[in-house]
Amino acid sequence: LYGVEDPKVSFDNTEIAFSSRTDGELKNARRLFKAFNYRWLVVYGPKLVEWSLKLGLPVKGLIRKTVFNHFCGGESIDDCEPTVDHLKASGIGTILDYSVEGENTDKNFDNTLSEILKTVEASSKYKSIPFCVFKTTGIARFELLEKVQSGERLTSDEEDEWNRVRSRFDSICKAAHDAETKVFVDAEESWIQEPIDSLTMEMMAKYNGKRAIVFNTIQLYRHDRLDFLMSCINNNEFFQGYKLVRGAYMEQERKRAKQMNYPSPIQPDKESSDRDYNAALKLCIENLGKVEVCAGTHNEESSTYLCELMKENNILFSDSRVYFAQLLGMSDHISFNLSHSGYRVAKYVPYGPVKSVMPYLGRRAAENSSIGGQIGRELHLLQNELERRKN
Ligand SMILES: Cc1cc2nc3c(=O)[nH]c(=O)nc-3n(C[C@H](O)[C@H](O)[C@H](O)COP(=O)(O)OP(=O)(O)OC[C@H]3O[C@@H](n4cnc5c(N)ncnc54)[C@H](O)[C@@H]3O)c2cc1C
Repeated sequence: LYGVEDPKVSFDNTEIAFSSRTDGELKNARRLFKAFNYRWLVVYGPKLVEWSLKLGLPVKGLIRKTVFNHFCGGESIDDCEPTVDHLKASGIGTILDYSVEGENTDKNFDNTLSEILKTVEASSKYKSIPFCVFKTTGIARFELLEKVQSGERLTSDEEDEWNRVRSRFDSICKAAHDAETKVFVDAEESWIQEPIDSLTMEMMAKYNGKRAIVFNTIQLYRHDRLDFLMSCINNNEFFQGYKLVRGAYMEQERKRAKQMNYPSPIQPDKESSDRDYNAALKLCIENLGKVEVCAGTHNEESSTYLCELMKENNILFSDSRVYFAQLLGMSDHISFNLSHSGYRVAKYVPYGPVKSVMPYLGRRAAENSSIGGQIGRELHLLQNELERRKN
């Protein structure tokens, strides 16, 4: 029962990966990923759509039918139900991700808070929703977080605003604790990450008494994060949860560091990110007594490495302290094959109004295009499966 006999899960099996997809669905997905090869579309498309929606032009239907349907569960939690069921049928959990970005008023932050609390409630009701997630910038003004991190003195209005942020943050973590579910705090840009880390560690100390409820996210594309993770694990006795990712804001990080003339927090090359990512997996697995871990990655080597680590450390492959997670619409060959082999897997299922999830969709388009470097992996897999079905 410890690990699988051969921990190397084959990610080549497209039959398992796409077993619940019809030919028509696969063909639509293939068309979409082909479109990502048009650089102009990926660079200017999301902004064009945002403007068109603001001007009331009828583009919503087209977006819904294409990129939105592929990467999102819908506009509301109810809309996501078929996706939750579809994943559940293959033993895969859902992480409902209310993906609204760029809102900036207290009213919007309170709305986002109540929506996140609904995801906590859904997660407490359904076993197939093992985690909740939120971004701190969904409940706090970016500039305020920046100011808190800078150490500059807050005005008394800002002090009040910061207290409201702390209270929203606490409400989410408390709700997850009371509902006996787990909550990820997403990681964001390095110049606002310090207050996010502090709040998250504070909540871990408060709510992770019996097991990991609150999870921080560690971005291993930062050269200082492996040491940070190590010191968090070594210096705290309470249960800790970590979602490990490489990091999504590399361009912005490098650009800002250059513009403002400070050393970039990003690793010198991809190999260094990969090395630290795998080292972080090892560190978490070796501290599983007080740590739970979720590998948020589409990287096949890291996923295989985690399977091997579990086997080496005699960890049951169904141990609920170790999860693999991918995003909806990406890397089904990893998610479905891992789940098929008995590992714990969950997928982020983003949802929200079409106009508000456009920044998220723009990042997915870039990641799957030549700009993001992932030239055609998804396309290749889709083509392989369609080809296999012909024979
Ligand atoms: C479930 C899940 C949750 C996530 N949550 C977050 C989150 O909270 N915060 C967040 O920031 N991101 C998050 N991400 C996104 C993640 O950080 C990556 O951007 C994305 O998953 C691609 O990395 P990878 O590990 O899948 O694989 P790969 O495709 O192997 O790696 C690509 C990544 O490597 C790094 N990289 C690429 N080139 C270089 C280079 N030249 N030098 C140094 N590093 C390089 C970058 O981080 C790039 O995104 C999440 C992803 C998943 C699947």
